[in-house]
Amino acid sequence: MITPIKATTYALMTITFEIEKRCAVCGKVSKQIALMSTNAIGYSDLDMRPPEMERSTINTWIQICPSCGYRALDISELIEKSSEAVNSDFINNS
Ligand SMILES: [Zn+2]
Repeated sequence: MITPIKATTYALMTITFEIEKRCAVCGKVSKQIALMSTNAIGYSDLDMRPPEMERSTINTWIQICPSCGYRALDISELIEKSSEAVNSDFINNS
């Protein structure tokens, strides 16, 4: 059992910015959400998702180009052979 000596409350919040990114595959600019800060208090879930509030930021971890479908941590950076994957028949016909 933990007996607190002094309790201090900080403003616990997730901060995101809306930013514009130019896709490295198709060159189109789109709005993306950049995660600036968050927190995690408690244990991970049984499926290994982090505790809240970080859990609610999962939608910001991967950027998706709405024009061509390219997905990456940062769509302005080209991952080797990603252009071939985005434009492949396998991706576009499945
Ligand atoms: Zn794109």
